[in-house]
Amino acid sequence: MDITKFEMELTSLCSLHCFACAHKDNLKVNLSYEQIVSSFHPEFMKKMNFFSFCGARGDCSYHPRFLDIVKYFKTANPKITLQIQTNGSIHPPSWWEELASLLSGKDCVIFALDGLEDTHAIHRRGSDFNKVISNAEAFNKAGGTSYWQFIVFRHNQHQLEEAEKVSIEKGFADFDPIYSRKYTPLYQHPTIEFKDKDKTGLFYCKTKENQAIHKPFCRMVRCQTLHLDCYGMVSPCDYLAVLDKRIIHPVSGKHNIMFYKNFKKLNIHHNSLEDIINSEYFKWVVDNIHENNICSKYCGF
Ligand code: SF4
Ligand code: SF4
Repeated sequence: MDITKFEMELTSLCSLHCFACAHKDNLKVNLSYEQIVSSFHPEFMKKMNFFSFCGARGDCSYHPRFLDIVKYFKTANPKITLQIQTNGSIHPPSWWEELASLLSGKDCVIFALDGLEDTHAIHRRGSDFNKVISNAEAFNKAGGTSYWQFIVFRHNQHQLEEAEKVSIEKGFADFDPIYSRKYTPLYQHPTIEFKDKDKTGLFYCKTKENQAIHKPFCRMVRCQTLHLDCYGMVSPCDYLAVLDKRIIHPVSGKHNIMFYKNFKKLNIHHNSLEDIINSEYFKWVVDNIHENNICSKYCGF
């Protein structure tokens, strides 16, 4: 299988408590710098063209050696594009300036800012709007390219126009309002319509437009992308990456058997990425994509 892209969850660490997140405070798992360098060795890196840092359990900026990891990837393959999604809530502005100095070209940071000073922390519980803004501003002033990603709820929908103005003042390259994956009675669906530009998908083929044209759509196959989690497990995508989902999903039983049969072989602590990519598991997932109800539920198979 040809793989040129990875979505990476480097850590389970995060200090926020967004309502729909799998993050748990008592879970402290990091992929080590040494393991990353060994698995993504310079020869392997030659084939890579895009990494997205976006975890289901944690925020990459909390990884104790995140800047070293970025530096390694950019040195091992200067042509690679990095997309970093973060809540921007830790580190002083100087850390973000240093991050900007390591990035180039089409690299970008996507800051999660779901409102203004009085609404942002309703969803991003534990975050301080002014701290995120000063970190983002420092990053932008140091030459970094960043996007303001605004998850729209009923409680912040009235601030879209004002937030877009602030994004221009603070040097963001673009303002990207998006719908939440989930709404609840407490976090209600907006009553207004807006254009979801889908900035995170734009950098590889996972755009909504592309998914609409090529239905069904498997991003492992179509975007040559795999998912790496903070335990070192490599999965086809984040839908198949969260273990709990596999266990509780009754119809994906065959997939679970295949997955557990290969459990150790799919972990970068036990196997090389080359062998993982060429393992029977990924071939099996593609060959059985029409039988897997997670693939049908999330990707239309
Ligand atoms: S900032 Fe991200 S990782 Fe942290 S709790 Fe929110 S969604 Fe989860
Ligand atoms: S759920 Fe299935 S079809 Fe969708 S991206 Fe994952 S492997 Fe591909």
